[in-house]
Amino acid sequence: MLIQRRANFPIECISWSDFQNCPTCTGKQPGISLRHWRFAWSLRCKVCGSELVPLHGNREGLAQLPSRLRHRAQEGAVRLRTVYRHGNVHSGRRMDLTLQVAAVLAPELRHGALFSLNQIDRFKALAVINLGMTRPLLATALTMKSDRVGETKLRIAFPHKGKLVDRLARLAESLPSQRSREVGAPKNQSRTNSTGMTHSPRQEYLQAARRAIDQLGENAERSDLLNCAVKFFESASQSNVDIS
Ligand SMILES: [Zn+2]
Repeated sequence: MLIQRRANFPIECISWSDFQNCPTCTGKQPGISLRHWRFAWSLRCKVCGSELVPLHGNREGLAQLPSRLRHRAQEGAVRLRTVYRHGNVHSGRRMDLTLQVAAVLAPELRHGALFSLNQIDRFKALAVINLGMTRPLLATALTMKSDRVGETKLRIAFPHKGKLVDRLARLAESLPSQRSREVGAPKNQSRTNSTGMTHSPRQEYLQAARRAIDQLGENAERSDLLNCAVKFFESASQSNVDIS
């Protein structure tokens, strides 16, 4: 099966071999292999609408997928398909960078994860693409918040992006912990908030990120988006210092 590929697109979007199929269609016609099953963004069969499943590997994974992850993955798949079909290399580079950052913070999410036989990893990779196009700074900062060595990994992987990592680290520091760690004796709780900001409701971070995207557009440079989001966040924090 020969499939035309975009030579200059930064991400490989078409598998060189079959990695998933439709259980309904292959049940009716054993050995069938449809072209669209090999696209990174294909989650459902175009012929019958069934959910595609990996040829090997864990098929039970999908049943355990949180609905939010599934939804984000579906949105990421649509974005990837649209960007690829339009030959939008700029957005493709942004998705590529997103996957690079994700792979540094979570090695299972390297580029090949788009064709992973592990459905959860594949859905995570597609969800990451969606976050990278909508809320890249917040998503990265949240990951750094839960991964103490994430900042170091990013500095090693992207030595020329020191200022951006500095800002991400400050944003991560200012984010409230997602889980209460009152039980036990947390080792790093004494780490101080370098920004000196008081902890505010999480909604503020989302609002800052959304306002930055609204102002600059989804395709703006990450550093510009980050600068803008940080400004929004800082101004919001200063006006809400009484919130506890
Ligand atoms: Zn089918």
